[in-house]
Amino acid sequence: MESFAYSPLPHKIIFGRGSTRQLPQCLRELGFRRPLVLSTPYQIDQARQITEILKSHVDDTSIFSEATMHTPLGITEKALRFCQDKGSDVLISIGGGSTTGLGKAISFRKDLYHIAIPTTYAGSEVTPILGETVDRIKTTQTNISILPKTVIYDVDLTLTLPLPMSLTSIINALAHGVEALYAPNVNPIVSLMAIEGVRALARGAVQLLDDPDSIPARSTCQYGAWLCGTCLGSVGMSLHHKLCHTLGGSFNLPHAETHTIVLPHALAYNAPKVPKAMEALASAFPTSNGDALHGLNSLLNMLGVPRSLESIGFQEADIDKAADIAVSKSYPNPRDIDRDLIREVIRRAWAGEDAR
Ligand code: NAD
Repeated sequence: MESFAYSPLPHKIIFGRGSTRQLPQCLRELGFRRPLVLSTPYQIDQARQITEILKSHVDDTSIFSEATMHTPLGITEKALRFCQDKGSDVLISIGGGSTTGLGKAISFRKDLYHIAIPTTYAGSEVTPILGETVDRIKTTQTNISILPKTVIYDVDLTLTLPLPMSLTSIINALAHGVEALYAPNVNPIVSLMAIEGVRALARGAVQLLDDPDSIPARSTCQYGAWLCGTCLGSVGMSLHHKLCHTLGGSFNLPHAETHTIVLPHALAYNAPKVPKAMEALASAFPTSNGDALHGLNSLLNMLGVPRSLESIGFQEADIDKAADIAVSKSYPNPRDIDRDLIREVIRRAWAGEDAR
């Protein structure tokens, strides 16, 4: 057995259908009486469902529904003023990674307790990582006090996520598990979570194709998203996440779709150096025939998710620039980073070729 260090994340997870109805009891136990519910404009109805559940149990509830992609500082400052005016004593974010991000940004600055209710599979709710945008530049920081203290996974709230968004969000989650398997600081617990999470996500995604409203399938996906998100929050990520950060941050490509397209190519690049991870992944993909890359390619083809960066607006002329940015800072990766090979990874992802 190799040496390792392991430190579990200090938070409480409540998982199960209808679990948002436990919110009044949660707030009572913690002694909070003035919740501020956060959402995007598109999810204001779900925010209202939360205030409805809470209204007869607290002194006052308010909603701030202007969460938006990339957590711009201007919106955070507006939300901070709103929070101050309302005298809120606890934050409840309901939504995907963007809304969770706003919750983290406020909670970190005001030292407010944050309850996250995720409605996608992105996993931000279980990480101590916060990405924020100032003057169009996105910076990321990690601090344990950024981690939401309670997370409520209620499958009912994921039913409204359209199938195409669900599928790319699932692959976004799966990517955290894949890179955790070869993280420099991986440990046995994280490896177990990663492979179990990848298996659950792959199985759930295929089931969702048949029935996008299937509660068991969506619940399996949420379970996988929790496990893989926990991996993201626990160990360091490598080439795949670096490439997606570059493409999202510098070329404004959509988060989940970018992860979906890049993942097989980043995995193919690292494959020769991570035989144990490849073996584990081969066992987790439904149609791998013992070959993890084949399994991932066929899963993505079966799901009908976007396969080329070109299809989501990335220009061929930007491949060199993206390669330069992606290799400009060093980071841990199982295989040495070679600029020309990375350019080829991006080119293949741009063209939508099967990864090899
Ligand atoms: P998102 O939060 O941007 O959501 C996309 C859209 O889908 C939004 O309009 C949202 O309101 C809507 N939506 C979400 N759930 C819905 C539901 N159940 N029904 C209907 N509509 C719904 O997307 P995302 O992919 O969850 O998050 C992406 C953002 O999160 C990125 O900015 C990314 O950088 C960040 N992120 C951060 C971390 C971290 O650890 N810090 C991890 C993952 C993602």
